[in-house]
Amino acid sequence: MPIIDNHVISFSMNILILGGTSEASELVELLPQYPDIKATLSLAGRTKSPVLPQINHRIGGFGGVAGLVSYIQDQKITAIVCATHPFARRMPFNAQEAAKIAGVPIIHLLRKPWLPQASDNWIEVDSHKDAINHLSLKTQAIILNIFLTVGRLELAEYVNTPQYSYLIRSIDALSAKPIENAQYITARPPFSIENERKIMQKYKIDFLITKNSGGTATEAKLTAARELKIPVILINRPIRPEGLHVEVASDAIKWLVSLK
Ligand code: NAP
Repeated sequence: MPIIDNHVISFSMNILILGGTSEASELVELLPQYPDIKATLSLAGRTKSPVLPQINHRIGGFGGVAGLVSYIQDQKITAIVCATHPFARRMPFNAQEAAKIAGVPIIHLLRKPWLPQASDNWIEVDSHKDAINHLSLKTQAIILNIFLTVGRLELAEYVNTPQYSYLIRSIDALSAKPIENAQYITARPPFSIENERKIMQKYKIDFLITKNSGGTATEAKLTAARELKIPVILINRPIRPEGLHVEVASDAIKWLVSLK
């Protein structure tokens, strides 16, 4: 039990935060104001040197729905906040299902998607395949410089398009470089508009391909593309499970407090 100012506090909640996003980090930062909420942050372990929180944390998959149910039961979790990335396809469904089986409440903390402004030239597609199809329709055989910021795990989708010259940005340096004839750079968000403008100008970018992740940390590339009149192929988000959703960490906290 925690002791604050000589008072013994008993935890009224023991929550699991499924993280990997800035919203999960924001939620963790709010928690010290609620000393009776005990929390564990879970990360998938995709980033080599993740920014680790001051609270309990664990890294790595649970072993599907069954593994997550066991974890919830073993650790006596009383509520779950699923704050995984908008493009995390499996974990939100696993979490929803495991919460149902274990009988614990769950909420999804999911930031708003980006919305186009009047001067934007966005082509919204549902998949990488559709993004490539759009390029080939529009561009014939001309070599284009494409700024590709889709995450390293999805680069394989672009391997068979050697007619394009890609600039690929990732948080960690890639040990395997899946696309030949591509230039690779590393950088950790947040990115400024100035930074994004310089990159797009330096590499003479013709198209930006990115996912509609939303949020402020990586939004500057869209502002720079708007200013430089660079078209953007934006991949729409995958579907999410039905259930309670909030967009900001403070609303997730309100929900937690309402459960007490
Ligand atoms: P995913 O398809 O939903 O998850 C794949 C598997 O990874 C899950 O079944 C689970 O393994 C494990 N996993 C995912 N999130 C986890 C978490 N927070 N804690 C423990 N295990 C987790 O997700 P993904 O696209 O591989 O993304 C993995 C992580 O990176 C997520 O936390 C996500 O928020 C973050 N992220 C993803 C993207 C993206 O574009 N996909 C971008 C930025 C950050 P088990 O089945 O074994 O439990």
